Amino acid sequence: MLDGCPRTTGQAEALEGIVEPFGLDIVINLQVPTSLVMKRLASRRVCVDCGANYSTAAPPLVNWTCDVCGGEVVQRQDDTEEAIERRLNLYEEETAPLLDWYKARNLLAEINGTGSPDAVTRRVVGAIDTMRRQLKEGMTP
Ligand SMILES: [Zn+2]
Repeated sequence: MLDGCPRTTGQAEALEGIVEPFGLDIVINLQVPTSLVMKRLASRRVCVDCGANYSTAAPPLVNWTCDVCGGEVVQRQDDTEEAIERRLNLYEEETAPLLDWYKARNLLAEINGTGSPDAVTRRVVGAIDTMRRQLKEGMTP
């Protein structure tokens, strides 16, 4: 399983060459509204020493000191609202053609990425099950 990769059609073409003669089984796009992505990223905090992830909703136990290593837990510079907006715009620009690319190959499953991790996992598993059934029945997904 690849997570967050490929990001461009160029990378997708390269990946196709690497996995040949086996194709990809399914490409899952988790759809999350920009406002929610913004909220998730803006609340993220990270340990400067070990990289452990926290959030303003789930901070370390003691005064922004890492539970794992005792390092300082801070907001990354590229997690400010302005920087996040820049990254999201870039992501949209790169990813929109990529989604079309996979859609044209009948590999794309668009999945609602909002809600609890369990709910999103259930949707992803459901999409994979559907794809498997279609493969077993000899249909193209
Ligand atoms: Zn740490």
